[in-house]
Amino acid sequence: MTLQRVLPFTKSLLEQTVQPGDVVIDATAGNGHDTHFLAGLTGAGGKVFAFDIQQDAIDATRKRVEAFNHVELVHDSHAKISEYVSEPISAAVFNLGYLPKGDHSIITKAQSTLAAMEQCLSLLKEQGLLLVVIYSGHDGGSEERDAVMAFVQNLPQVSYDVLKYEFINQRHSPPFLVAIEKKKSKK
Ligand code: SAM
Repeated sequence: MTLQRVLPFTKSLLEQTVQPGDVVIDATAGNGHDTHFLAGLTGAGGKVFAFDIQQDAIDATRKRVEAFNHVELVHDSHAKISEYVSEPISAAVFNLGYLPKGDHSIITKAQSTLAAMEQCLSLLKEQGLLLVVIYSGHDGGSEERDAVMAFVQNLPQVSYDVLKYEFINQRHSPPFLVAIEKKKSKK
């Protein structure tokens, strides 16, 4: 298959962007898959901050990344990212929706997602990436999707490139990716 699925495509963008020694954010740790992947890319000289509001997600992520010492797990909302992270970041990744195999009523919500995205954009280095995988099939998902799309479509073109990566002939609201790259400022 030549056209990569959404999650592998997201990972390949991270691989191209994140260098050993970088600081990065997983804004929705969940079961820790992205946190683990980012920990491998940044290496021991870097740092991964991983946020989740659910203790189960923090526990699952801690288990998955136990081999790494450079992951900081934050049991708090990503709406408070700037209280925990002050270093410039090369990437941040969000997987919206609910924790797979967890409580499906605990979902990411537009207000905190947008607050977190804004904080990530202000921490993002030039040519860094903010990646948001959007699921909208669950209750509350379409409101969050619409709010995120309205926000990203209005980001200034002089400062950001914004891409939507989506398979448009799939049924049942498949996930899609919004990728935002901070442009290099013109000197
Ligand atoms: N990327 C994860 C993985 O690899 O398993 C999956 C993430 S899951 C789709 C979404 C997660 O976002 C859930 O674990 C949920 O608890 C978390 N979440 C919901 N609201 C949040 C918030 N305000 N701040 C941080 N995490 C939140």
